[in-house]
Amino acid sequence: CGIVAYHGSEPALPAVLDALARLEYRGYDSTGVALNAGSGPVRVFRSLGRLPELAAKLPAHDVDAHGGIAHTRWATHGEPSESNAHPHRDCTGRIALVHNGTLDNASALRAELVAAGHVIKTEVDSELIGHLIEDEFALLDGPLWADLLAEATASAVRRLSGSWALAITVEGFDGIVLARHRSPLLVGEAPGARMAASDQLGFDASVATVRELADGDIVVLSERLAWFDHTGEAAPLPEKWRITTR
Ligand code: GLU
Repeated sequence: CGIVAYHGSEPALPAVLDALARLEYRGYDSTGVALNAGSGPVRVFRSLGRLPELAAKLPAHDVDAHGGIAHTRWATHGEPSESNAHPHRDCTGRIALVHNGTLDNASALRAELVAAGHVIKTEVDSELIGHLIEDEFALLDGPLWADLLAEATASAVRRLSGSWALAITVEGFDGIVLARHRSPLLVGEAPGARMAASDQLGFDASVATVRELADGDIVVLSERLAWFDHTGEAAPLPEKWRITTR
């Protein structure tokens, strides 16, 4: 029901928790966060219930990760539970993603993925996206770059039908990949940081202007902000607009 992401010079954990709290008004049944320090495994923490329940499972201080994604879930496929909460992972555990929206072709995708040897752990439509991305990312050779990840993500989401706002983080890449189709997703820039949220209330006062992903757009938040079209080709940044609600 709500997505946030952060990449910047400050630790990501407090930044994404603050942003999630701003989106609490949207309602949710469970929460979760994934932290990426750029090297080493992507760490995932999830909880059924509200943000204080998640907070009880989190490291008290995490200063290593400067990239993070987080989610408040309103279940559509699969009951509310800790194991169904986002972020979802692929088979390798290298990829973590959060998803807002609903897939219309979940059962067909599930059958295809299982036939191809993927082990699907939950009933949640969102988990399937991680496995599709896993297949595309597995084709990438050598170091991960924003343009390679954008192209691979574009190929994976081409197989989806329904609605999605996605934030994806992958071991070995110090950044976040975003994609959207029929679910809102905004990008905000602050000094030294780039952030994403489902709506502008997710941004604190350090973000004065935002840009909106159009359907099909892929965006990478890393040391800089990089925009791509639905084929994964580099695209100019869209116009930004000023936040008006505060
Ligand atoms: N369809 C996904 C699920 O059931 C995402 C729901 C949401 O947007 O929170 O987990």
